[in-house]
Amino acid sequence: MKTSDELMTLLRRIDHKGYPAYKDTKGIYQFLGYVLDIEHVQGDPFASPSKIKLIVAGKDAGLPKELYDKKHKRIAVQDYLLRQFGKRLSKVSFTAHGSGKSGLMSVSRCGQEVLERSGCEIKETDGSVIIRMEIGFPANGRTINAGELIKILFTLLPDTVTNELMFRNIHKGNIRKAAELSENQDYIRRELKKRDLVAFVANGAILPRESGVSQKPMKNAVPFQSPESMKVVLELPNGEKLSGMGIKRGVTLIVGGGYHGKSTLLEALERGVYDHIAEDGREYVLTDSTAVKLRAEDGRCITGTDISMFIRNLPNKVNTKCFYTEDASGSTSQAANVIEAVEAGSEVLLIDEDTSATNFMIRDELMQLVVTKDREPITPYIDRIRELYHRFGISTILVVGSSGAYFKKADAIIQMDEYRAFDITDAAKEQAQVYEGDSKAQTQPAEVILPDFHRCMLPNRSFYDDRTKIRVNGFESVSVNKNTIDMRAVEQLIDAEQLRTLGYICKHMHEKVFNGKTTLRSAAEKVHIALEETGFSSVCGKMVPCDLAMPRKQEIFACLDRCRNVKMND
Ligand code: ADP
Ligand code: MG
Repeated sequence: MKTSDELMTLLRRIDHKGYPAYKDTKGIYQFLGYVLDIEHVQGDPFASPSKIKLIVAGKDAGLPKELYDKKHKRIAVQDYLLRQFGKRLSKVSFTAHGSGKSGLMSVSRCGQEVLERSGCEIKETDGSVIIRMEIGFPANGRTINAGELIKILFTLLPDTVTNELMFRNIHKGNIRKAAELSENQDYIRRELKKRDLVAFVANGAILPRESGVSQKPMKNAVPFQSPESMKVVLELPNGEKLSGMGIKRGVTLIVGGGYHGKSTLLEALERGVYDHIAEDGREYVLTDSTAVKLRAEDGRCITGTDISMFIRNLPNKVNTKCFYTEDASGSTSQAANVIEAVEAGSEVLLIDEDTSATNFMIRDELMQLVVTKDREPITPYIDRIRELYHRFGISTILVVGSSGAYFKKADAIIQMDEYRAFDITDAAKEQAQVYEGDSKAQTQPAEVILPDFHRCMLPNRSFYDDRTKIRVNGFESVSVNKNTIDMRAVEQLIDAEQLRTLGYICKHMHEKVFNGKTTLRSAAEKVHIALEETGFSSVCGKMVPCDLAMPRKQEIFACLDRCRNVKMND
């Protein structure tokens, strides 16, 4: 390791030289209280900025152990540090000047959810703190301006590190609050399991968002209030009492008139698989962390998924036990999405009729009379919903505003009325009974055959080579070399950094894991466990990029399921 003085000397020497001379700064330097690791230097001032790692030793960071002794607390505190660090950084970014990206200083931007990110890492063993960031090395035109980089590395950065990463200077109350919130959230998640609940929505929670493009809470929204019959009271680890609505395992419907807040409740539940920051409004909306939102997804590819539970006897004898298509229909895509969610270990399925294929969800009686069973390949979800629960233990939370057919299948029915929740289970079921009296068509669905999840993928060279390029296009897709994976319909993917990680996972899978013998299921499980245990380096190697965020296991499956150009060993 070199000293910061050596870096200073080097910078003075290369001042006014051509930009490539900056490459000499690559290396590790000891600063007062931390180590600066210049991992990658940009080729010119307009290229993507240089990659820097800061390491603050445990004794210098001084974080009390109880802030990171459990994984959920560690992630919450990392998130807190990264936000604060980023906030201060944004004030000094571009105060050093020059051409192109000269003077840029940035870390990941965090949204409303708390995610594990490569941008900030606390080592559990010694409490050291690592920050990964980008700096635009300053130049005038393409001539090095070392003075401005000296300002960044010797004034702005040390100042930010001292104020935001050293516990003695950090706002103690706020950082402890972040850790405490994560304790409470973790407690509630464990409590869900104990009490046979799939979700909890606290009284007072603010569910709607500011707008279609902002995840900030809506101002002046109607706060959530649990129906009395579904009320659950929790005593949090910090002694506070918290009441709210508990949604039990089984089949739950959310009904109500248009624009009364059904989808808003479901969306809050979708996001409830992640923890939220304080004052988000959904910090105490927590859903079983395996829950998957499903929708119709016309046009997706399907590689060997067994959708025979829903679709059989297609025209021209297509095999639906091992179904292939490059261009799925609404119903086949939604059927595949259900089966693949089960394959990914999901125990709760979330469905909104707004985004479902009608023929996948129901077949009304008149249609059953006119088009008979043997002419219809689809067994709709309504005929499988109870079986999914009984045979796989999979619960469903379903938004239906237009069809009462699901009433008789439901364990609980919540009506949203002017953004207020009411338990109408008994009344709705009673009505359904009366109505049932004169029903004629009651065909039994065909017996269910459970899928065996035995897809073994073959590696494909196009996903990896010496210089694999991973590109993220907003929230929409990730490209691994020329393979573009469309993730628009995977709604619980909430951050572009998760997409980037998925790109690395695809590459890693094809390079190291897929072999035609390991099932997709065990391959994805394996990589997920490695990520949990070893972190991002398990999929991207030693030099961890600064812009990765952890996806859930369910999104890892979803991504692998959407890769085109992949073959199964059959
Ligand atoms: P639905 O799915 O029942 O048709 P939505 O959930 O889409 O209705 O909600 C309709 C509108 O009401 C949305 O613009 C949403 O932001 C707003 N909204 C939802 N819940 C609340 C609430 N608790 N307070 C105020 N506005 C809300
Ligand atoms: Mg809706």
